[in-house]
Amino acid sequence: MARAVSILGAGLVGSLLAVILRKRGYSVKIYERRPDMRKVSGYAGRSINLAVSVRGWNALEMAGIKQDIEPIAIAMCGRSLHMPDGSSAYQQYGKNNEAIYSVSRGELNRKLMDVAEQNGVEIFFDHRCTGVNVTNNEITFDVMGAEKKVQADLLFGADGAFSALRNSYSYADRVDTQQFYLAHGYKELTIPAAANGAFLIEKEALHIWPRHNYMLIALPNIDGSFTCTLFFPFEGAPSFASLQTREEITAFFESTFPDALALTPSMVDDFMQNPTSSLITTRIFPWHFGDRNALIGDAAHAIVPFYGQGMNAGFEDCTVLSSLMDEYGEDWHKILSEYEQKRKPNGDAVGELALMNFVEMRDKVADPNFLERKKIEKDLGKLFPNEFISVYEMVSFSHTPYDTVMKCIAAQDILLGKVMGSGDFDKLISTESFRNELNIWIKEYYASVQQLDFGTTTNK
Ligand SMILES: Cc1cc2nc3c(=O)[nH]c(=O)nc-3n(C[C@H](O)[C@H](O)[C@H](O)COP(=O)(O)OP(=O)(O)OC[C@H]3O[C@@H](n4cnc5c(N)ncnc54)[C@H](O)[C@@H]3O)c2cc1C
Repeated sequence: MARAVSILGAGLVGSLLAVILRKRGYSVKIYERRPDMRKVSGYAGRSINLAVSVRGWNALEMAGIKQDIEPIAIAMCGRSLHMPDGSSAYQQYGKNNEAIYSVSRGELNRKLMDVAEQNGVEIFFDHRCTGVNVTNNEITFDVMGAEKKVQADLLFGADGAFSALRNSYSYADRVDTQQFYLAHGYKELTIPAAANGAFLIEKEALHIWPRHNYMLIALPNIDGSFTCTLFFPFEGAPSFASLQTREEITAFFESTFPDALALTPSMVDDFMQNPTSSLITTRIFPWHFGDRNALIGDAAHAIVPFYGQGMNAGFEDCTVLSSLMDEYGEDWHKILSEYEQKRKPNGDAVGELALMNFVEMRDKVADPNFLERKKIEKDLGKLFPNEFISVYEMVSFSHTPYDTVMKCIAAQDILLGKVMGSGDFDKLISTESFRNELNIWIKEYYASVQQLDFGTTTNK
């Protein structure tokens, strides 16, 4: 008989996992710390969005809700860069106009909960897990101040970056845990829609104001507004600590982001009122105990948001788990062991990629050499579609395991070093001698990565 599944957390990953398991015939209960967001008035006040890419779409398709999310998703085909001198530039993400998609986090979560319930999942709100006995699966909850114990059969911790299940793992023998915070935090701000509901800046782009050690980004919402996020140091000058008074904050925005300030009359008020949040990366091993319980999503691998992959990676955990259920039926020992073996290196790798991309977004995107490299990468991708796909495209537009992507970086650096070291690519590519050399370098590159697992490279 199929086991009874308990899931901690009705967030994005917990709700999606519940749908997948329920559709396979498991009875599923979710325990969520917060009240039901669909009933709390005013929840939708601030629109917070996130970027869905191909790994996320794949999982949403599996859950049968891709068609419900597509109409509320805005394609972002590239980065729109806003420089300090007021100029702007546009970098297309993919060589074939591929996009990542801005979606309201709240809408997505509500939809996933609805679908879970429609399929027969029970969600218990206001149930904050305070601990799990990982050897016998007894869960302790705080339910509005009262203690409640629940005996789980098969348990998943999908309870986010500060997971209670992960915390309970950390007391067990031979469990390695790591966590570290960035010196930067973030604050959410909003660029409103025009009075007629129009978008005040390019709709189909992810906007970045790169300023070396920090940056402002903006993603479009379907109501014409943009959710902006300021990634900024906690300490130093300038920093959240150094900007205290209205005058200091106004002077900072006037000198650093004058164009964004001009679009956002409430920028300074938002800065003063909205909370400052921190950015954590976590790693843990193991990800499961026997056939009893396992971690998934941010609970297993909380990462910084700079590749827009946290949710996408968590959704991919679910698709991998689902394919292992296809393979191993009810053998949960095998399923969870292989899930850990397949996903742990990828959780670590996407965490690394996300940290690396912070430097790229806030600093390198404004560097002419970097822009040149991005252009050449696209040209190489078009010239050698079977041999070369850039790191960004592998992460965002394919199912290539993140761990494989990490292993390609050094080889791509060598290849691009040779190409860019030769001179003006656009001129050289028309010469036979350079093309011959390029063919050799591409073959060498391909030989060095060919044996890696590239998964399937489906574009959305
Ligand atoms: C600023 C920012 C921007 C981001 N942008 C992107 C993006 O563009 N693309 C992308 O893919 N990812 C993005 N992410 C990452 C993404 O938000 C997370 O990876 C994703 O939300 C993880 O989903 P989850 O369900 O694992 O965890 P969560 O979304 O955190 O959900 C966990 C759930 O568990 C509940 N819970 C927590 N503790 C308990 C407990 N003790 N008991 C019971 N319930 C509990 C919580 O209330 C919550 O509902 C971003 C993150 C940040 C911070």
